[in-house]
Amino acid sequence: MSMRIVLKARVYWKQREFQRIMSAIASRLQAVRDRIARAARDFGRSPREIGLLAVSKTWPVDCVIEANGAGQRSFGENYVQEGVAKVLATAGLGLEWHFIGPLQSNKTRLVAEHFSWVHSIERMKVAERLSAQRPDDLPPLSVCIEVNVSGAATKSGCTPGEALALCQAVSALPRLKLRGLMAIPAAADDFAAQRAPFRQLRELRERIRAAGLPLDTLSMGMSHDLEAAVAEGATIVRIGTAIFGERRHP
Ligand SMILES: *Cc1c(COP(=O)(O)O)cnc(C)c1O
Repeated sequence: MSMRIVLKARVYWKQREFQRIMSAIASRLQAVRDRIARAARDFGRSPREIGLLAVSKTWPVDCVIEANGAGQRSFGENYVQEGVAKVLATAGLGLEWHFIGPLQSNKTRLVAEHFSWVHSIERMKVAERLSAQRPDDLPPLSVCIEVNVSGAATKSGCTPGEALALCQAVSALPRLKLRGLMAIPAAADDFAAQRAPFRQLRELRERIRAAGLPLDTLSMGMSHDLEAAVAEGATIVRIGTAIFGERRHP
């Protein structure tokens, strides 16, 4: 085969693959909504209490637009550069962007300027910079404190013992609005094992509420464990794979 034909075949294959991914998004999104609704019903909750954050990291902006066409409005990104590019490319669509990845203090400005939420606050330095850098013409940045619950998948997040003091300090920052807690437990297959760290996060939120901070958010649950998170009171589930498919690059 000539080089030309090989290249043409590759372009054709890529386009076919792209169309396949796109047409799957709307039906996958509906399947995720159905899972949330069923779990809510099973555990005596209203599906309206549970927000769906579509995690679009590694996927091209066309996938975001496709999901938005199917009614999805809130999107989550892990990497600053990639996320900001998608925020800018979709300006005007009225999307709500959540930053959910590890955040270094030298990258806070772009996040403060382009996102509505940050779920991954684990230290005061990052929170202070986000508050100082939040533009005056935008509403306060909604934030969650990431907690390293037992069996966490990553080393990120404050310890449960540090969470109350961090919440108190963050809630005093003028341009942040403290919303709640976030966790990323390690994947487990057993439903009871999945629930345990989510229960720990829920109970931690109850203790922090009892100390007088009105936290309205529990950001927990991903593609493989959203039912367990809903069972334990999740108010935002963060779903990537079940909507967009398997990521090829982590
Ligand atoms: C990637 C990611 C998700 C989505 O995970 P899936 O298993 O693909 O649903 C959720 N939360 C965070 C913090 C992530 O990094």
